[in-house]
Amino acid sequence: MIDLKTMLTQEIGALLKDWNEPSFRARQIFSWLHRGVTSFDEMTNLPKSLRQKLAAQCRITVPAVERKQVSKLDGTVKYLWRLGDGNCIETVLMRYHHGNTVCISSQVGCRMGCKFCASTVAGKVRDLTPAEMVDQVLFTGLDSGAEISNIVLMGIGEPLDNFDNVLRFLELVNDPEGLNIGMRHISLSTCGIVPQIDRLASLRLQLTLSVSLHAPDQETRCRIMPISRAYPVEELFAACHRYFAATGRRISFEYAMIDGVNDTDAQADLIAVQLRGMPGHVNLIPLNNVTESPFHPSRRIAAFQKRLESHGVTATVRRSLGGDIDASCGQLRRKVLEERREN
Ligand code: SAH
Repeated sequence: MIDLKTMLTQEIGALLKDWNEPSFRARQIFSWLHRGVTSFDEMTNLPKSLRQKLAAQCRITVPAVERKQVSKLDGTVKYLWRLGDGNCIETVLMRYHHGNTVCISSQVGCRMGCKFCASTVAGKVRDLTPAEMVDQVLFTGLDSGAEISNIVLMGIGEPLDNFDNVLRFLELVNDPEGLNIGMRHISLSTCGIVPQIDRLASLRLQLTLSVSLHAPDQETRCRIMPISRAYPVEELFAACHRYFAATGRRISFEYAMIDGVNDTDAQADLIAVQLRGMPGHVNLIPLNNVTESPFHPSRRIAAFQKRLESHGVTATVRRSLGGDIDASCGQLRRKVLEERREN
């Protein structure tokens, strides 16, 4: 079955040409799909014969709400979607003054193995298709009634480990006939796969790159992020400098503050040294407790922030949303997987 929602308008057009159908239909089909129709019968401006042909050969992905939690504190909504093959993924809707942001997953599970992260505990099951990523934005908007203006690729999975599908996803949501979300309203977060950062740099997209740094020294970073063994943190910083040189875009560095591990003044000093010559922004994240994790939230966040700023590095502390609804990084999926195992 052909997955039409993964295709660009011109690709749908090429398919229609093979079927001897007029190419202007491609735009109509694209726009229906990216408005969230769940059947071809809803495409009322297409002739019935074409709708039947499409239904016979193509499929429309539609995720089902497996769980939904709404925060009483701030209106954050967390969805656990069930995909066509039964796998589940998380999406979070966050309401900010500057607009509604959807945080989407890029893979079912993750194979990066960060020691403090709940998403990676059971490893990676598979990559998400471009359509499955679009669906998270689309159906979160439809279900919640919220107008979506921003997307962050900061849910489950490593986006640069699913590079081609993520790139296609970006093209799809960018399309004016589709969700029409501009690159400047999209952030992509990576744990630091150096060759893929270079590949992304060569595309010179206007999106915001976030790098999950979490430690500026190789010894500490290896302890908490296995990816650092493959791509040492010095190489990661070098790639960030190349990225800035190629794109002119300021990189945002994510830094989950872990008690006694990455919260010393010496580490703040080292960050400042490594970012010299590049306008970086450090986002300090209060560590979310993950069950069984040996790590605890740092009590030095304010001091660390002050130390960074004394070196001229801008640093903000991330406001935590959805504290009452397992809203962070793979927590809900993990909980449901565990419940299923117990039953
Ligand atoms: N794989 C990508 C995308 C995930 S983004 C990446 O690593 O960037 C999710 C962000 O939340 C990452 O910065 C991740 O390191 C961070 N994170 C994971 N577990 C966390 C925890 N327990 N507390 C705070 N932040 C966490």
